[in-house]
Amino acid sequence: MEKNKRIVLAKRPEGLPDESIFRLEECEFPRISEGLVLVKGVYFSVDPYMRGRMIERRSYIPPFSLNETISGGVVAEVIESRSGTFQAGDYVTGMLPWQIYSLGDPRFLRKVDAKAAPVSTALGVLGLTGLTAYFGMLDIGRPVPGETAVVSGAAGAVGMVAGQIARIRGSRAVGIAGSAAKVDYILNELGFDAAIDYKKTDDIGPDLDRACPDGVDVYFDNVGGGISDEVIQRINDNARIPLCGQISLYNATDVPMGPRLQPVLLTRSALMQGFIISNYADRFQEGIGQLAAWMKEGRIKYAETIIDGFENLPRAFLGLFSGENLGKLLVRAF
Ligand code: NAP
Repeated sequence: MEKNKRIVLAKRPEGLPDESIFRLEECEFPRISEGLVLVKGVYFSVDPYMRGRMIERRSYIPPFSLNETISGGVVAEVIESRSGTFQAGDYVTGMLPWQIYSLGDPRFLRKVDAKAAPVSTALGVLGLTGLTAYFGMLDIGRPVPGETAVVSGAAGAVGMVAGQIARIRGSRAVGIAGSAAKVDYILNELGFDAAIDYKKTDDIGPDLDRACPDGVDVYFDNVGGGISDEVIQRINDNARIPLCGQISLYNATDVPMGPRLQPVLLTRSALMQGFIISNYADRFQEGIGQLAAWMKEGRIKYAETIIDGFENLPRAFLGLFSGENLGKLLVRAF
């Protein structure tokens, strides 16, 4: 029988985590019982929100327990099924442990059609990050022709889809990302109208003024911090700000004081709305259907950064905070 491996949370991080917070260990091979499926993880997703689950605090999702297996989005192959829902050889996705072999409850898994698109996309453009861009941009951002939509974290999994959706709706898309290669990709491969490399300057204000001569109507905020302070100073009347993520603050030990934003929101009659993608769970099929159709028409493109080797999951996760990924960051286990 093959050996099984898992990755547990060995200690809670303070500030920027390093690999010592994780532990790779051997574990028992699961014994299947009636109603369940035995699955083997193929693609494991690393996501910024997981940083929040590593510390103990009240949130929309409970924290990971110490010395327990981390869990997250996984695409897995069904090895054995004791359920009528799936057969051996099917690909499924859902929240599963960071473990090579595990048991899944079919009620919480979704079948992935391996013929329709590469199965990895079920964790990215046709999964939670694509859906986050879709609902955040369309439900809260609501861009219309002629407007300017700014997206931070624009070369990441959510951001690159959010910017392309703004363009589909007829808005100008302006992306902010952290390297020349990322800026080049979103401009020349994805068709963003302007892009700013925020790591090239200490003050992105003048770059924003050049990229957004008519101000900002939609700001899809993935990062927070100083970048968002600068964008929000430039919003137009009736601007909409989908508050998607604040990655620049996830490792902060003291939350830095920024400008007070309420006067800007008030005087521009602007809307800033936070959202969690699970709020839209009953509309996921709609979102996946539309994203898949846009992909087929060539109107949505995507990138993935794939790191090979289950044991590299910790390193991959940490790479989110240094911006090592273009598009969705995944680990391929075998
Ligand atoms: P991602 O953008 O693919 O990866 C994270 C990226 O964040 C990195 O590549 C890096 O790109 C950027 N980054 C890291 N540290 C930064 C910093 N200090 N300042 C500015 N940028 C920084 O990740 P994702 O999965 O698409 O998630 C993007 C955001 O959406 C995250 O904040 C995440 O928490 C949020 N999110 C929210 C929901 C929801 O339900 N609301 C769902 C999914 C994701 P650069 O090279 O450009 O710095």
